[in-house]
Amino acid sequence: MTNEQNEIIKQLKGILFELIDVEYEIKSMEKVIHVMLQKIVTLISAEEAFIVISNKKLTTHTVLVSTDSLQNGSQSLPSALQKEFVNMQKRSSMYILNDLYAVIPLKIEEYNITLCIVLKNDTDKDTKLWRRFSFNCVKFLKSVYNNYQVNTQKVRYEKLYKMTEKFHGSMNSDHILEEVIDMLDSVYPNCNHTLFLTHDYQGDKKKTIRLLSYDHEEMNEDLMSVYVTGETKIITNSVNQFSVYAPLVGAQGTYGVLQIKGEHAFFFSKEEVSFIKCLSETAASALEKAQLYLSSQRNLADLKLINETSRHLNANLRLNDIIHYVTNQILLSFQAEEVGFVLIEQYEHYAFLKGSTSFFEEKEAIAYVHYAHKRIMNENEAIFVNDIAIDFKNNLLPYQSMIAVPMIQDDQLKGISLILHTQPYFFSFDSFKLIQSIVHHSTLAFSNAMLREELEKLVVTDHLSKLYSRSYLDERIYQSMLEDSHGSFILLDIDNFKCVNDTFGHQIGDQIIIQVSNIIKENIRAHDIGARWGGEELAIYLPGVSLSIAKKIADRLVKKIAEETKPTTTVSCGVSFWSNETSDSMKKLFNRADEALYQAKRLGKNQALIQKMLINDKKS
Ligand code: GH3
Ligand code: MG
Ligand code: MG
Repeated sequence: MTNEQNEIIKQLKGILFELIDVEYEIKSMEKVIHVMLQKIVTLISAEEAFIVISNKKLTTHTVLVSTDSLQNGSQSLPSALQKEFVNMQKRSSMYILNDLYAVIPLKIEEYNITLCIVLKNDTDKDTKLWRRFSFNCVKFLKSVYNNYQVNTQKVRYEKLYKMTEKFHGSMNSDHILEEVIDMLDSVYPNCNHTLFLTHDYQGDKKKTIRLLSYDHEEMNEDLMSVYVTGETKIITNSVNQFSVYAPLVGAQGTYGVLQIKGEHAFFFSKEEVSFIKCLSETAASALEKAQLYLSSQRNLADLKLINETSRHLNANLRLNDIIHYVTNQILLSFQAEEVGFVLIEQYEHYAFLKGSTSFFEEKEAIAYVHYAHKRIMNENEAIFVNDIAIDFKNNLLPYQSMIAVPMIQDDQLKGISLILHTQPYFFSFDSFKLIQSIVHHSTLAFSNAMLREELEKLVVTDHLSKLYSRSYLDERIYQSMLEDSHGSFILLDIDNFKCVNDTFGHQIGDQIIIQVSNIIKENIRAHDIGARWGGEELAIYLPGVSLSIAKKIADRLVKKIAEETKPTTTVSCGVSFWSNETSDSMKKLFNRADEALYQAKRLGKNQALIQKMLINDKKS
């Protein structure tokens, strides 16, 4: 070799040596190779240089990196070269083609690579020079390839380690997914990545997260097979493009598949696949942990709700209070818009229970009840309707989502509970299950309360106060109005009783009713009738007693109750009077007492007032 040629080789070695140094900074193998080609072209004053990668069968040839005119990824090579590449198999070392191309074939791992340099007229074409030249280039390319594998992997695993640390502190699936996407963006900036997940994910700003479903247009066989088998797969096509599919496998299931697509398999080493596998496994176990946490939180909240509801229902409430309570629980816990309870009295004869929301006082509500009743009869179970418009063709109904739960007691359908929302697909299946459970728990309390209230009408004594029952009182007043000349009626209502219940609990509330009732019993004569009017309202009928005496009795009671109850409680009274000198009725007698009671409440409670004077009252 001439001195000049030796000088060229020396300079080449210098260039390559320098490149090894910057290679660490550049970090991209593609860029390093590109710089190398540019420097070679200048050094030997060639036209241009490019690297071609061929598939295994050596049938397709694609440009990998080029200094100039050829597009990366292009398959149209200069025609002289195109012909040469047909015989590529025979070549093992470099040669000069047509005095124009230096062709340098090499193999890196399983890749068939050819370095092509387009020479100028005045470029030195001495084979001796070119042998040494190509020897150095090949050595360099192989070393870049190996270094790249080792260095990048080190950085990747460091990042992965940091990400895993972050996962330890996170129970939020959205954060975990964001971290994974950020990681992929930073590690594979030139690749396309998509996470196919089996569960819905809302907060994806970059559109890189999709729902994994069989009918999705992007779903292909590879993706599905990876999801089913749980094995990572890398697929390359004839033009060196690749796709990696890594399943997100946790201990309890597969949560999706990570897909990474890129242009050049050559730049994507085998090590990358193990890294991706590691990344997807880490992500899957973090997601699994977050989901388990979420579902345990949800179960806990569900249990609490059921527990609290049952506890409340066991407190012997009145029917109205029960319905009111359950309605509120469902409104609050499930963001329902309407909650109604309807009793089925006879077929297609319904009674809406007080305590349901106001929609159930409207005519339109009947359509829902009919619909629910019919389906419950046919299907024998609770129904869950996501979009009622599907069944109601000319649908003008205001609510689209409906849950209807049968209230069954002793194998009989007693009523239906309806839960509605204007938005279709509003309630989740989990909500449906939970509402069912709440209604089941309440049904027994409903029936008990109804039964108790039925019984109260039949029996003579009220079970709690041991005063007479309302029905017995009615009967006695009716008799008295037939037989006696006059009588007085006192209606008592415990003041702020709701507050007593709320402060001390229902049991103490019951105790107060008992205490007040006992004071009444002690302060009336044997033939007077003290009765439980209903709830916290009590009544006394005094046959043959004048309005002024009745007022005195009422005043005495108000005073004693305020003094003797514990916790201190007061009552308000309304006193009314009848005499056979005027035509009167039981209903009017009650109304007058009720009005007076209302006045007593209005004027500050803890007092007794008498009915508005009737002209004939003066006689008494
Ligand atoms: P006011 O002074 O205006 O009468 O106020 P209040 O709180 O007494 O009246 P309200 O009608 O708002 O509430 C009555 C409460 O009495 C509601 C109901 O839960 C409670 N109650 C009714 N019957 C019973 C019962 O048998 N036992 C207990 N513990 N509470 C009852
Ligand atoms: Mg009251
Ligand atoms: Mg009251």
